[in-house]
Amino acid sequence: MILDRIEKAAGNFPERIAVHSLRGEMTYGDLWDKSDRLASWLNEKLNDSKTPVAVYGHKDPLMLVCFLACVKSGRAYCPVDTSMADERICDIVSTVGNAVMLATEDFAGCAGFPEDMHIAGPEEIRNAAENCEPAGQESWVKPDDVFYIIFTSGSTGKPKGVQITYADVSNFAEWTSDLGTGREEKAGAVFLNQAPFSFDLSVMDLYTCLANGGTLRCIEKKMQNDHSLMLEYMREGGLEYWVSTPSFAELCLADQSFDQTLLPKMKAFMFCGETLSVRTAKRLAERFPDALVINTYGPTESTCAVTGTVITAAMTASGRALPIGAVKPGTDIFIQDGEIIIAGDTLSTGYFREPEKTAKAFYTDGEGRRCYRTGDSGYFEDGLLYYRGRIDFQVKFHGYRIELGDIEQNLLGLDGVKAAAVIPDRDGDRIKNLAAFITDEGAEGTFEDRQKIRNELRERLPKYMVPKKIVFVDSLPMTPNGKTDRRKLEASL
Ligand code: AMP
Repeated sequence: MILDRIEKAAGNFPERIAVHSLRGEMTYGDLWDKSDRLASWLNEKLNDSKTPVAVYGHKDPLMLVCFLACVKSGRAYCPVDTSMADERICDIVSTVGNAVMLATEDFAGCAGFPEDMHIAGPEEIRNAAENCEPAGQESWVKPDDVFYIIFTSGSTGKPKGVQITYADVSNFAEWTSDLGTGREEKAGAVFLNQAPFSFDLSVMDLYTCLANGGTLRCIEKKMQNDHSLMLEYMREGGLEYWVSTPSFAELCLADQSFDQTLLPKMKAFMFCGETLSVRTAKRLAERFPDALVINTYGPTESTCAVTGTVITAAMTASGRALPIGAVKPGTDIFIQDGEIIIAGDTLSTGYFREPEKTAKAFYTDGEGRRCYRTGDSGYFEDGLLYYRGRIDFQVKFHGYRIELGDIEQNLLGLDGVKAAAVIPDRDGDRIKNLAAFITDEGAEGTFEDRQKIRNELRERLPKYMVPKKIVFVDSLPMTPNGKTDRRKLEASL
């Protein structure tokens, strides 16, 4: 189990750095010891209540102490990133409903914040983590207990808290430890953390790293505005494993110095969260000829990722979309009416205190398997899963059913197109037009450039799928999680 693996790393290499950010660093020995002590403080403060604990902050090594302290005290943690809107933080914290919240940065609360909640700030946390008596293993979470709760973006209405158990995380980290390269190679390696801890992509770097006694190097949000600082931070750390969204890698690729000379130890790029384009995979292979590029796929509800594959030169040369991978051992995936359904040993137990929403998304099939409806459209070919897009990105336009993801894939196949997002231009419920936002190195945004794109698309797609509006942009806007911000694009129309 994952805690045993971290304990082993702490025992064998107490002086090794477990986590590093601009805010400081922490060794395995300290991470283990401080989380033991903070766990007993939680036990004392909260008595028998096993309600989950919200942990607020951004990339501070102390956040990891809090996460481990919660699970060592038998409570799930719920990461809340500083980049979230106050309203959302309040919503999440009140839903979690614990009497205590751990804040690794000062947090004053906000309108609607539960009045009787005790916010333990950084001083109080540090004090407890240094001075309380360590808790024993008897209070640790058990395999079926919830380990963390991550609130999904909730494109409509209130965010939902996805509950992931101790067994889920452990099974997940067993798989990622051997994904692409073996665990012997990952032992003690340096991992990049790009995503905020409140986004489940971070589970891949955080727990693959800790399970293998590696060092997590965390990129702060504000660093992303200063490329030279960010690249220098990566270089200095000697990165070996990269975990991010493809959008974030694109951002780095825009800098010519981002290559193997800068990061000579890079062994693998692991992607998840959104479509990895052929172009991005090819550019990475050119700049980092010795590193693997790995595409993985999965929703938060199945613990980050459940399929994965190393992207080969044959795949990028095939002229079609890249596969999202082979199904991991312990997971079953099948396609029902075009939709990807997931069952297996990393599936969430459901949404926190939302039995109705849980019953809508999860069900037990005829064979007694618990299944999750992803809302993603996909298909298998030669043992590999391919992604078609969100079922809800399927639009009806002039009576035709269109997958916006299909148009995007075709745009990405055109020479010069680096990134693309196709957004419906709506007038109330009616779609007036389709708009394509494109970053294209060669184009200057002239009428001829737009016409060229449309003509090339017409050779690949039926006429009704060719977007009428083509907008050239320097880069696609990103959400705080590092995915393309589609809402922002739609609002700009
Ligand atoms: P989240 O729960 O926020 O991690 O989002 C999960 C969703 O991101 C999935 O249901 C997919 O729609 C999308 N997604 C995740 N990984 C990939 C991938 N490798 N390629 C394309 N889409 C992906």
